[in-house]
Amino acid sequence: MQSSLTPFRVAVIGGGPAGLMAAQTLAQGGAQVDVYDAMPSVGRKFLLAGRGGMNITHAEPYADFVTRYGKGAAPLRPMLDVFGPQDVRDWVHGLGVDTFVGTSGRVFPTDMKAAPLLRAWLHRLRESGVRFHMRHRWLGWRDDALVLDTPDGELLVRADAVVLALGGGSWARLGSDGAWVPLLAARGVGVAPLAPANCGFDVDWSEHFSSRHAGEPLTTVAIVSTGADGREFRKQGQFVVTQGGVEGSLIYALSAALRDQITANGYTTIYLDLLPDLSSQRVADEVARPRGARSMASHLQSRLGIKGVKAGLLRECLGKQQYADEDQLAQAIKRLPVRLLWPRPIDEAISSAGGVRWDALEGTMLKSAPGVFVAGEMVDWEAPTGGYLLTACLAGGQAAGRDVLAWLKRG
Ligand SMILES: Cc1cc2nc3c(=O)[nH]c(=O)nc-3n(C[C@H](O)[C@H](O)[C@H](O)COP(=O)(O)OP(=O)(O)OC[C@H]3O[C@@H](n4cnc5c(N)ncnc54)[C@H](O)[C@@H]3O)c2cc1C
Repeated sequence: MQSSLTPFRVAVIGGGPAGLMAAQTLAQGGAQVDVYDAMPSVGRKFLLAGRGGMNITHAEPYADFVTRYGKGAAPLRPMLDVFGPQDVRDWVHGLGVDTFVGTSGRVFPTDMKAAPLLRAWLHRLRESGVRFHMRHRWLGWRDDALVLDTPDGELLVRADAVVLALGGGSWARLGSDGAWVPLLAARGVGVAPLAPANCGFDVDWSEHFSSRHAGEPLTTVAIVSTGADGREFRKQGQFVVTQGGVEGSLIYALSAALRDQITANGYTTIYLDLLPDLSSQRVADEVARPRGARSMASHLQSRLGIKGVKAGLLRECLGKQQYADEDQLAQAIKRLPVRLLWPRPIDEAISSAGGVRWDALEGTMLKSAPGVFVAGEMVDWEAPTGGYLLTACLAGGQAAGRDVLAWLKRG
């Protein structure tokens, strides 16, 4: 047994939000914590998340909140029950940063930035004795020791327990490169392949269309598609046409289902409702109105406000005959098929799906490596944007910290 004068020594590898929250929990519990990270500084993806407005959590009712994690909701639930959206906000406030709820229910720090929050957090962690070791890349185990590649050569570290919080597989240049997957697989840990989540998709646009419309947003459209259960779903929002495909909030929100359909079928087709606020009948009536000598394009613009990228899409996705047929054109405005070929590469995605399988875990501890705990995006769950990712990373880091303390105390 350790005495209270010789605290347990815990190594946290990975200084993203999950690892830092594990470090915080462990330090509060009296452990001596060393954080190792391969990069020159911690929290790089956390800082990037703050660039476009740091969406830290979501204010919708908790019963709805937990459903956003899909299949991961059940195993994540006990962690979120202890450290949920309100706890995230209280924790941010405790670091001296205020939050506000945006119109969509998303919660942001008042200044929308991640840097002041991270600065205050690191200051608090250092004050509580957490030590940081940058440019220390974990390469695996030798016997029971952790092998770290450091600027001064190889370092072997022995700790009473280890928390791995190595992130997913997107934006490798910020540190989370998924290089841990074979290291854990070699240790007998089941890992679901990492896959892009909250990602764009490739579409085989013609040169004519993409050269004119790449970068243009489609505001207020709806997408109809088919879920894994075979049922159609419909979601309204906006997205952007890119040089070679589509991206943006509406696409990200549906990306898990779209990705899974492509994996199963080789491609998927989404159906765009270009005028979701108008009924099919109204659209048909307007298209059928006499247009005199006017072209169909200017008829659609004056009767229905269809112009720019929406007009371009109709031209791109319909044959000449369909475009000239009023019935078919009206139907297409409400249900325009666009074929998605494959997701954009994982490195471009906002997050990744896959990771350490839940059945490889007992709580947050690896069954095949007692004393090694995992947290954050490297675990097999996924969620849409909206603050759900960071909330689960923080909750998972907190749970791993608590599990380590309980395991060490058990002896
Ligand atoms: C552009 C963008 C915007 C985002 N915006 C939001 C948002 O607004 N809201 C939200 O909820 N989420 C957002 N996210 C997602 C969120 O940032 C991530 O889900 C979160 O950072 C994952 O936390 P993590 O601690 O699990 O891993 P990471 O933050 O990826 O941290 C993992 C750490 O492990 C280190 N590491 C990896 N391998 C090793 C190794 N072998 N040895 C040592 N260290 C290693 C890395 O250097 C890194 O520091 C965004 C992501 C992106 C890319």
